[in-house]
Amino acid sequence: MAAGDNTYWLDQNDRIVGVADGWDTFAAENGGEAAAFRCIQDKSIREFIADDVTRMWFDVVLQLARIRQTQIERSYRCDSPGRKRMMNMRLCLEPSGLIRVDHILIATAQLPRSIAINHARHAEPGSVIHTRCSVCGRIQMGESWVEPGAGAAPGQSTLSVVYSVCRECSARS
Ligand SMILES: [Zn+2]
Repeated sequence: MAAGDNTYWLDQNDRIVGVADGWDTFAAENGGEAAAFRCIQDKSIREFIADDVTRMWFDVVLQLARIRQTQIERSYRCDSPGRKRMMNMRLCLEPSGLIRVDHILIATAQLPRSIAINHARHAEPGSVIHTRCSVCGRIQMGESWVEPGAGAAPGQSTLSVVYSVCRECSARS
């Protein structure tokens, strides 16, 4: 498979040591100047994962790719405003010892209700903070995990969240 715009390579210490040719163009078009290769080169991938639980989830997947030496594939969700986006992450140990990571867009769908998701760091003081699974994108409501739209009160347009990984997604890592 040819490298997509969303491909990068990690060394043995999980540092970003290479990106696909189209990376910088893609980063610029998506407003991510800070994601340009010169800004992320030789930094640990962990610096770009917001919370400890997701970091641990990613560590497990990385270790599997190294130990099994086969391609490891995990689906996850990465919504854009108003759209649900299902992604696949593929990790593959290359003969050079580098891990190649591909993020592939599988499908998108209109969200039934458009909810803006804010990281709790930017929340208004006193607002309710929910936990969101960074793998499946669902929001924790008591004992269950629900779609973001179902986790908001009627008329509510933003949800403030911190990120974690739900039990089902942890069990699948
Ligand atoms: Zn989940």
